[in-house]
Amino acid sequence: MSTEIDGVRQEVSTGSLPGWDRVEELVRDAHARYRDRDEGLVADYIPVLAEADPALFGVVVAETSGALHAAGDADAGFSIQSISKAFVYALACEALGHEVVRDRVGVNNTGLAFNSVIAVELNDGHPMNPMVNAGALATTALLPGATPEEQWAHLVAGLGRFAGRDLGVDDAVYASEAATNQRNRAIARLLESYGRIEADPLAVVDVYTRQCALRVDARDLAVMGATLADGGVNPVTGERVVAAQVCRDALAVLASTGMYERSGEWLFEIGLPAKSGVSGGIVAVAPGKGAIGTFSPRIDPAGNSVRGRLATAHLSRTLGLNLFASAAHVAERAEAPA
Ligand code: GLN
Repeated sequence: MSTEIDGVRQEVSTGSLPGWDRVEELVRDAHARYRDRDEGLVADYIPVLAEADPALFGVVVAETSGALHAAGDADAGFSIQSISKAFVYALACEALGHEVVRDRVGVNNTGLAFNSVIAVELNDGHPMNPMVNAGALATTALLPGATPEEQWAHLVAGLGRFAGRDLGVDDAVYASEAATNQRNRAIARLLESYGRIEADPLAVVDVYTRQCALRVDARDLAVMGATLADGGVNPVTGERVVAAQVCRDALAVLASTGMYERSGEWLFEIGLPAKSGVSGGIVAVAPGKGAIGTFSPRIDPAGNSVRGRLATAHLSRTLGLNLFASAAHVAERAEAPA
C-alpha cells in the first residue's frame, strides 16, 4: 500500500495470508494439535475465575478481509481481564493523542509482575506502561468524560466497536474482583500520591474492574485484534474505530509489554504483538493480515494461557506471521511445557 505524505511516497508492506482453505485447515490443526495439553493452572486470585472449565479451548483467526476461521470453543464466554488494557489504551490515544498518553503512562516494560507495587515505587510513581495495572489505571483515568459513568460509557462503546457487537459485564466476575481488589486500590492510591491520577482513585479502580469483567469470546478477541491489524477499521462491520497511527502505537506497546514479564520471550519465539489476560484469553496481531484470538483457562506462572500460547506459536509459524522471520523456522521453546 502506498500513500503520499509531505510530498514523499511511503510504502507499507505486510504480505498476505495463505488462501481461505489453507487458513481454515491450519486453525483446525492448531486446535487439534494442542487440545489434550493440560499444563498450567486456572487463575484463582479473583475467586470466581477458579470456577472456569479448564477443558475449554477455542482458536479463531480473523482476517483483515473480514473472513473468520474458528475451531473448538470459539463461542465460550469469559471476562476479558487484562486484554482490555490494549483496547482502552487505543481509545485513550485516539481521544488524547499518543504524546499525552506516552508522557502520562509510558511505553517501557517494567520487567515486573503486572500488579507490582514495587515497579511504581522504583520509577518515582511513573506507571511505565499501559499494560501493567498501574499504567492501565492511569490510562482509564484519562478517558474522556466528566464523570466515571461517562468514562465507562465511552469505554464500553469503544470496546464494542472493536468487537463489532455490544459487550456486557459479567456481573459475577465484577463482584468477585470488586470484593478482592485491595491491591489495585492500593496502586491507584499510590499513583494519586505521586500526582499521577487526578480523578477519584477508587472510582478509577471501579471503572477498571468493570472493563476487566467485560464478557467476550475467542471470536471477539480475533475481531478486536483484526481491527488493530486493519489500521483501525473493524473488518467485519467496516466501521472505523481508531486511526491507523493509534494501531501502530498500540501494537508497538503490545510487542514490548503485552505478555507481562514474558514479553521478550514471546516476541523471540512467536514474533507478534499480543496481549493476554488471566482468565485465559490471548489476542495476537499480524499487521495488515489479521489476528489470532484464543481462549483456554489454564495459565502459566506469568499469567499467559498455555494452550493459547502453543496454538498462537504454531499459527504464527504455519501462517507465516512472525514479524522477524525471513524464512520458515522450526518450533523453539514455545513447544516446551510451561
Ligand atoms: N483484573 C485483573 C487485575 O487487575 C486483570 C489481571 C490480568 O488479566 N492480568 O488484577
